[in-house]
Amino acid sequence: MTTLSLIKPTGHLTLGNLLGALRPMAERQDDAFYGIADLHALTVRHSPATLRALTDEIATLMLAVGLDRSTLFVQSRVAAHTGLAYVLECTAYTGELNRMIQFKEKGRGVDSTRASLYTYPVLMAADILLYRPEQVPVGDDQRQHVELTRDLAMRFNATYGPVFTVPEMTAPPAGARVMSLSDPTTKMGKSHDDAAGVVHLLDPPDVVRRKVSRAVTDSDVGADAVRPDREAKPGVTNLLEILTACGGSATGITTYGALKAAVTDAVVAALDPIQKAHADLASDPGHVQSVFAAGEQRCRDVTAPVLAAAQAAIGL
Ligand code: ATP
Ligand code: MG
Repeated sequence: MTTLSLIKPTGHLTLGNLLGALRPMAERQDDAFYGIADLHALTVRHSPATLRALTDEIATLMLAVGLDRSTLFVQSRVAAHTGLAYVLECTAYTGELNRMIQFKEKGRGVDSTRASLYTYPVLMAADILLYRPEQVPVGDDQRQHVELTRDLAMRFNATYGPVFTVPEMTAPPAGARVMSLSDPTTKMGKSHDDAAGVVHLLDPPDVVRRKVSRAVTDSDVGADAVRPDREAKPGVTNLLEILTACGGSATGITTYGALKAAVTDAVVAALDPIQKAHADLASDPGHVQSVFAAGEQRCRDVTAPVLAAAQAAIGL
């Protein structure tokens, strides 16, 4: 069954991206399309040079974590994404886009946003429908957008003929949800302005150590201070989850100092092979480019008939 997942090049990849997305992706590579959503990174103020550099860095890291059996691509290089997005904009209504929670949240308090921030859920619908996945595993923050994707597909099919496969929404595989080290009630996000709370995949060991040693815990000094409790001890719980997800164990650990030392070791050990592979690949950028070029050609071949069918059905 086809799987599709996109990562926005809005910042350096984080430990959250690794444990919550890249690792599960590496385990599921048959008939998998994994892309870098550079078009989605244009919906807010951006720097062209930074966007290009991040796109290259993420491409290299996708190979470094072992995604070598998947179809890898950069979204903007597969023109059918924007081609179908326009057709779907002619299927969507402003009334439904006005209800998108993410748009309301990001647009709150500002007079005006890029028009693409408003239409981005429609581009996301195109991203999905082009690959005809039967299921879309989706986390809470994207449920409303996948619901819109289904609505647009059903409306198009009913109006113009059966072009799209209407995907079902499924729960994502239970991956880790990594929280910020500096504010463990918010998630670790690559675009967040949170230098102390975000561990990046390319952080050297001393940087990892410094960030983990400053992680927020709490003032509990009881004998059972090191225990998971999402409500009462979010910082400690986050460190325990990171430790386990990185292959470490909390057995015998009773102090926050010992916990942070164990987390540092486990994270450094998890990042080390990725950083080595990244260094090797970065010294041979032509290889990364050729892998992506082949993936992009495959994406063009797979998506062209879907776009052509949609265009023909709508009268183009
Ligand atoms: P942004 O801040 O730009 O939204 P992000 O770090 O949330 O960046 P996305 O590009 O939105 O990254 O998502 C890429 C993938 O990483 C998605 O599958 C998402 O669920 C996953 N992911 C992102 N942050 C975390 C996290 N803290 N823990 C687990 N998974 C995460
Ligand atoms: Mg995100």
